[in-house]
Amino acid sequence: MTAHPRRQWTPPSGQRPRSPPGGDVNTIPWIPAPARPIVFKNASVVDVAGNTVHKGRTVVLENGVFSAVSRGAGDLVPDARVIDLEGLYLCPGLVDCHVHINMSDGRPSSGYTDPHLRATYTLKAMLARGFTTVRDVGGATYAQAQAVKQWLTPGPRLFQGGNIYRRARRPAVARGARRVALLRAGAGDGADHVKICTSGGVSSPTDALESVQFSPAEIRAITSTVADMQGTLVTSHAYTVPAIRRAVENGVRGIEHGNLLDRDTAKLLASTGTFLTPTLMISTAKGRAPWNETLPDYMREKNAKVRDAGRRAIQIAEEEGVTVCYGTDLTMGMGYLQSEEFTQRAQLLPSHRVLAHATINAAKLLDDDKIGVIAPGAYADCLVLPANPLEDVRVLDVGDDGRHGGIWGVVRDGRIVVARGEFAELVEEVGGLDVVLGIQEAA
Ligand SMILES: [Zn+2]
Repeated sequence: MTAHPRRQWTPPSGQRPRSPPGGDVNTIPWIPAPARPIVFKNASVVDVAGNTVHKGRTVVLENGVFSAVSRGAGDLVPDARVIDLEGLYLCPGLVDCHVHINMSDGRPSSGYTDPHLRATYTLKAMLARGFTTVRDVGGATYAQAQAVKQWLTPGPRLFQGGNIYRRARRPAVARGARRVALLRAGAGDGADHVKICTSGGVSSPTDALESVQFSPAEIRAITSTVADMQGTLVTSHAYTVPAIRRAVENGVRGIEHGNLLDRDTAKLLASTGTFLTPTLMISTAKGRAPWNETLPDYMREKNAKVRDAGRRAIQIAEEEGVTVCYGTDLTMGMGYLQSEEFTQRAQLLPSHRVLAHATINAAKLLDDDKIGVIAPGAYADCLVLPANPLEDVRVLDVGDDGRHGGIWGVVRDGRIVVARGEFAELVEEVGGLDVVLGIQEAA
């Protein structure tokens, strides 16, 4: 038998030591090369602030941002991938302002894995649903935010506040001092916000929902420390009116859940510029099969109290002019329900208001005007849709068909990460996806 010539291997002859990746010991090898620019032609650009669609636009994505949005053909962009959308809708990427990336998918009973590794699945799944930004309000770390920023794991850009500051079972004085010390440490770790709890929770067996936690002095110690250090938002988990008022009257400017909000308290939120992030989906899911069967009795009772009230609260908040944001709070395997929050809110409010929750209102909460808008200088995060989400926001719900409803394309940082439907063919013609998520499409 003769040797195949192409299977011959020649040992290296030179003595030259090989160089590190990128030729420099400080190069981070997993950071991808810049994506080729994209030019979307004939895009119907969704303008959430104006509650209108701008048809026939040319949108250029370069170096991670939108570099131009123009009428007609626009300028020539060297080396660009040109995609004619033929009138498909280009919508700003979505923001979920209340997630827990380390607790969202999988259940302890189905086997433990490292929470940070488990989160790599959750982050990809969220991105596949069109969430290009999320705010984690308990558990995520600065290191995880950096990993996403560097594309070490694909996911939405991540805002995080580290740990939650809860009521501690210690004497009050030590408690206050310890909490402020923890806060300084957390803020030093690059926290984007600080989260406290001023009311009991649904899932805790020991806290009554009606309990009000933290004294006014303790809350002021936290809000003034944060203001002195960096001025980021302090936000509070609070269901009841006394817990919401205790927080807001002492400098807290974000309320999570807020299910039992009344009209007078909504007026207080509006007049102080306090953000409200309702989370209808978690109580909706816990109230129906199969999740209701997994709850202990005490939790079922607590959940019933907040579920229906939450639906009224979001309407009251909108009527009183509160800046309402999109949140879901899904944990323990419920992550796949993240997009149904759109459908739940669409039963209560006009679609364009609901889309604002997940785009422009979220941008205000995160204090980042490069989010939630398709405009020059903003992050190149967007979705390709077959229908106008300002008219029917349910196009963003993945639905139960496992085919991601109407989200045909997802782009984060100018990188195409999802292409479905007609958009898949258009992307194939220009060389395919920039990043393959590699997770199952269902869910
Ligand atoms: Zn939560």
